Amino acid sequence: MSEKPADNPVYPPVGRCIYCGATRYSPTRLKLGDEHIIPEALDGKLVLPEASCFECERSINWFEHYCLTKTFGPMRYALGMRSKRPQNRPKTLPLELLIGENWVTKEVPIDWAPVMIFMPVFDPPEILAGGPPTRQNIYTAKFLHRELAPGDEFKLGEIFAATKGRSYKVSVDGIRFALQVAKIAHGYAFAERSGLECFNPVLTDTILRRPGATPLPYLIGGLQEIGPPSPENIEITLRRGITKFGVTWLVDIRLFPWIGAPTYRVVVSVENPPPALQLLAKGSAY
Ligand SMILES: [Zn+2]
Repeated sequence: MSEKPADNPVYPPVGRCIYCGATRYSPTRLKLGDEHIIPEALDGKLVLPEASCFECERSINWFEHYCLTKTFGPMRYALGMRSKRPQNRPKTLPLELLIGENWVTKEVPIDWAPVMIFMPVFDPPEILAGGPPTRQNIYTAKFLHRELAPGDEFKLGEIFAATKGRSYKVSVDGIRFALQVAKIAHGYAFAERSGLECFNPVLTDTILRRPGATPLPYLIGGLQEIGPPSPENIEITLRRGITKFGVTWLVDIRLFPWIGAPTYRVVVSVENPPPALQLLAKGSAY
């Protein structure tokens, strides 16, 4: 499906944290938090009510805050995407300028700054090849790069007259990015779980970065080939597969396909988890 207001399903409240199984938000508050499947800051509209606890929200914040303010921040500010705290939105962005013989970081008003987006291009999740995990860390040598706004050369030149060149600070962290797409995939699969056969979620320990959790590249990855741009803001699709581990559910996610963004592919559920995933079966509430 594509995320559009017209097909904006309202899911029933879960009543348990979709990460740890807790049935209350915190020792002092009963009602669980609503889970935005795709962050509101990325204009996501799907909500899973009463589905997260305070501790898990705090854990998720480690990667989500970074992705939303650093990796996607300049793009969000330039495109006027939603913000929980618009008053905290930066007024300037750092730009490296070559002035004389020296590179100097200057804060440039946001309307003048060029806006770049970098998104990692991942290999497919290793589990789909049927073997055990071979890599501990997610690694990518390939990024999709787009310039979304060229910036105002005239104003920049007027203020920083001697500039001979410029470059950008790029803030993409492969681990945090992978966890962000895993969180979206898990939430979406959980929201749609009633329609899924053999739903046995496998990502919670990885998302919460619990000791001994499955290495990221085993379950989280993407497609190397990049599809043509499409007019949607977000595309998210649940796919049923059969692997040697039985019924295996995958979620494909494309954030901003209109810029020709990469597709991320995340394994959200495995019917008969292999040994590399069995810690989850013991440690997880689902
Ligand atoms: Zn929780």
